[in-house]
Amino acid sequence: MFDFTLDATDGAARAGTLVLPHGTVRTPAFMPVGTHGAVRGLHPDEVRRAGAQIVLGNTYHLHLRPGEDVVRQLGGIQRFMHWSGPVLTDSGGFQVFSLEGLRKITEDAVTFTSHVDGSLRALSPEKATEIQWALGSDIAMQFDHVVPGQATRELAEEGMERSLRWLERCRVRHEALQDGGPACQALWPIVQGGTHEDLRRRSLEGILTRGDWSGIAVGGLSVGEPKPVMHRILEHLAPILPPDRPRYLMGVGFPDDLLEGIARGVDLFDCVAATRNGRHGSAWTATGKVNVRGATLKLSGAPLDAECDCETCRTFSRGYLRHLFVVEEILGLRLVSIHNIRFLVRLGEEARRRILEGTFNDWSRAWLARYHGGEAA
Ligand SMILES: [Zn+2]
Repeated sequence: MFDFTLDATDGAARAGTLVLPHGTVRTPAFMPVGTHGAVRGLHPDEVRRAGAQIVLGNTYHLHLRPGEDVVRQLGGIQRFMHWSGPVLTDSGGFQVFSLEGLRKITEDAVTFTSHVDGSLRALSPEKATEIQWALGSDIAMQFDHVVPGQATRELAEEGMERSLRWLERCRVRHEALQDGGPACQALWPIVQGGTHEDLRRRSLEGILTRGDWSGIAVGGLSVGEPKPVMHRILEHLAPILPPDRPRYLMGVGFPDDLLEGIARGVDLFDCVAATRNGRHGSAWTATGKVNVRGATLKLSGAPLDAECDCETCRTFSRGYLRHLFVVEEILGLRLVSIHNIRFLVRLGEEARRRILEGTFNDWSRAWLARYHGGEAA
């Protein structure tokens, strides 16, 4: 049910095949985020046609609404949201640690105030594991202690050590839920340790002594630290992560991040930016960002991105998309979201092709230079 094959490498970049209970994922791959059990604004068929192979669900949000028992009774997350492919769920750790001032952390659990109705709730390693089990995702993430990018070394170390202790508790609970039955959900650990290479190494070593994991995530990056710092941490981890396991860089997924991450050995990415930017009329193209509301687009009959094969770019003009945003027509947000998702999915597909050919590094350098120095509107 869980298998990963490394198909090719090119420098540190990797092309792989990840087999999960609900389908196969060719990596490197971008995972659209379905926060509330939907990729915001889009029909699952549109997400599928954009080429997405796996989507992400948010434990924190689905626990609050509708509650994991509702999802379970309605057939699990795949049937609930009408997505037949693989699903990865986060553990809610990132969300509860982001609730600055509304949460209390103890060794046992994080107590927080629900942003929905103000009720007092708690997430613990055991609870986060139980929720994800009830949701029925292919991949569940450990509950971890996330610290901000500018955290002191002391705080980063505390979060890293606690994450290891919590990993053990997640593992025990997950094994009990599995109860010797067939493996239908994987539990993945998360490397923490802030911006400190030695803490990251200790985190990984601690993870590897605690089990034989079918995949490993890197968390706590892109949380306020400068990008070169993230690149340095990834470069440090690339040679010491087990080569035969998929690597997931959590919450990172702007176009340039994708290529910089792939160049440093990352296989899986997720980010809300594709749909969030789409809703704000910000589209990615090969030559940089385009503001769909821009007055210069008014009379443009050209597609959003002439090089893109998405439904939006094959069908509609820039001038029409701009009009939809000006009149606040909901179709506009949906069309730009479709384009942005396809843009990242296609970037993963192209990177994979280049890795298989052995031309990844030259191609990605040229791609990034054009993207950053582009002639976009
Ligand atoms: Zn497009």
